[in-house]
Amino acid sequence: MRKLLIGAALAAVAFTTPAYANLNVFACEPEWGALSNEIGGDKVSIYTATTGAQDPHQIQARPSLIAKARTADISVCDGAELEIGWMPMILQQSGASKLAPGQPGDFQATQFVHLLEQPSRLDRAEGDIHAAGNPHIQTDPRMMLPVAKALAARFAQLDGANAAYYQAREADFEKRWTAALAHWTAKAAPLKGVNIAVQHHAWIYMENWLGLHEVVPLEPKPGVPPSSGYLAEVLQKLQATPAKFTIRAAYEDDRPSAFISEHAGIPAVTLPFTVGGTEGAKDLFGLYDDTINRLLQGLKK
Ligand SMILES: [Zn+2]
Repeated sequence: MRKLLIGAALAAVAFTTPAYANLNVFACEPEWGALSNEIGGDKVSIYTATTGAQDPHQIQARPSLIAKARTADISVCDGAELEIGWMPMILQQSGASKLAPGQPGDFQATQFVHLLEQPSRLDRAEGDIHAAGNPHIQTDPRMMLPVAKALAARFAQLDGANAAYYQAREADFEKRWTAALAHWTAKAAPLKGVNIAVQHHAWIYMENWLGLHEVVPLEPKPGVPPSSGYLAEVLQKLQATPAKFTIRAAYEDDRPSAFISEHAGIPAVTLPFTVGGTEGAKDLFGLYDDTINRLLQGLKK
């Protein structure tokens, strides 16, 4: 009996940790964990530090995260200061020198795309402003292609024995992703030119991709919750320039968009924002399937 139990325990471990994992990946957000999985397959073991139910701007540097960073070979994060409130603490507490800034084990997805909204003048009084530019690149699936290429190259650099494996998986991903992109873009055509109101100013890349037009954010400044006075201003703005619906990420407080939805008489659309944010966003492909479906639903209501 005892032997059986140990056998079962070992089987469980083998299931969650690939038997021949060469790289331990510490993924800051679920979308980068999912992309690491697409590229790394069974040669990497992935720990994803946050879930779609959490605000990636505001994560606690818990001991469990620190312990995982200590054994990681590479961190795969968004970068552009999205994790500025918690990753420096994790790096410091863990002493994880492999993940230190500038090391091959420090992978920041935003370094491989062109970032929008890089402020010419930094003023923290502008709220929780993203000083390095808008970091929320995963709202546009086109961003995944350059990041996937860079990630495969980085995995190959750290684990040369499997370089061909990572390159082959990247090529296969690129093929499947390009086909999916064409499908999403065609399906989303009715969204072109549609006015929307957004909770956090986090969707600029998606807006560019689909041709959505952001009328107004529901936060007075990025990261600052709206007062009732500010929401009244938003309603006024929406009277002058009506929006079809509001958008918020699944992890965000639903009250501001519910209030606007009720008073402006428009639907409130909840989007996954990342893998696992909603039930439909089960993997990287599901993230955009579900996002497009939910946006199109917003048009119908
Ligand atoms: Zn943000």
